[in-house]
Amino acid sequence: MGAPYRIGVLPGDGIGPEVVPVAVEVASVAARAAGLAVEWVELPAGLAAYEQFGETLPPQTVETLRGCQGWVLGPVEHHRYDPRRPGMRNPSGFLRKHFDLYANVRPARTFPGVPTRYLHVDLVVVRENTEGFYPDRNVLEGDAELRVTQDVVVSLRVVTRQACVRIAEYAFALAAQRAAQRGRPGQVTAVHKANVLRRGDGLFLECCREVAARFPEVAFDDVHVDAASYFLVRDPARYDVMVTTNLFGDILSDQAAGLVGSLGLAPSLNAGDRYAMAQAVHGSAPDIAGRGVANPTAELLSVAMLFEWLGRRHGDAAATDAAGLVEDAVRATLARGVHTPDLGGTHTTAQFSRALQEALRAATMG
Ligand code: NAD
Repeated sequence: MGAPYRIGVLPGDGIGPEVVPVAVEVASVAARAAGLAVEWVELPAGLAAYEQFGETLPPQTVETLRGCQGWVLGPVEHHRYDPRRPGMRNPSGFLRKHFDLYANVRPARTFPGVPTRYLHVDLVVVRENTEGFYPDRNVLEGDAELRVTQDVVVSLRVVTRQACVRIAEYAFALAAQRAAQRGRPGQVTAVHKANVLRRGDGLFLECCREVAARFPEVAFDDVHVDAASYFLVRDPARYDVMVTTNLFGDILSDQAAGLVGSLGLAPSLNAGDRYAMAQAVHGSAPDIAGRGVANPTAELLSVAMLFEWLGRRHGDAAATDAAGLVEDAVRATLARGVHTPDLGGTHTTAQFSRALQEALRAATMG
């Protein structure tokens, strides 16, 4: 084993402290089995950190992350954060922007044993993560949503050529990689609203077309976001990699999670050139928080995506193997009918975690 990767662990809010420890525990078993050395570094972030330190994201947490190769962030209960209050920074948005984690990669796949409307969904939403209609990402000081009068709000959106080109490049490289893994041609679909947002989405589409010309082996098409959401529900198999701007990507990836059975199955990676952050698609799920029934799969598969990213970035087969072991254990466990209530089952988070660890032991012992 080489020097351990330092991976930060930030539990977040709501169900975060229930699913993040399970993800770390199960991923650790897989890492050990694959010969991957990981040093998990627990760090305060979220509402609990605010209670303790008066900051949702203490400066020491950000400083420590700088010395990590990646980290795991639990969901953030945004609606309880007041950006006007000092110390109430949104960790999720801040970390994406601060560490330039520009690509939010959100796969949606069906799993054997999980009842869904469609049998074979296997697509990825690649969402631009650093600008767009997100007020905390667009201005140096202040906020890009302005309440001009009591009755008038103006929301500013930033779209830059640099961000559009690099997210398109990420999507095409991913489609090429998926094509090689699956033995079939790759396809990228740019999702936009350039018929209405002519300048902003027009620039995004122009950049996607330019990048498409550099990847002739990957098929390319584009679709308006409203039509995309219609086709996604009618025939998700028509999509492979969908690349889009920040807000559309957020919405479409939740929709895609619905197609594969639950938000509890939808992982995501926020990737930059230097760092990556594992973070499930779902939010803090206040309706089930504290009951021990949350599905930890999304957070766990997000950690597997981080392992896979580390494997590619560092040419480290052990990291890639650990990711594969996690994926296989999730598949085997779900196929056995071990399901949390969001999938119609009765297993608790703890029971599901034990089943995952048994699946890992069974797979690695023999
Ligand atoms: P949500 O994703 O928290 O919940 C939507 C539904 O999905 C709920 O019924 C919930 O119980 C269910 N669900 C989500 N994750 C689950 C899991 N792992 N297992 C089982 N069921 C699961 O969305 P929401 O209710 O709109 O948002 C709640 C809070 O989370 C809000 O403050 C929102 O801003 C925040 N949020 C955070 C993130 C993030 O940190 N990445 C993402 C989305 C929403």
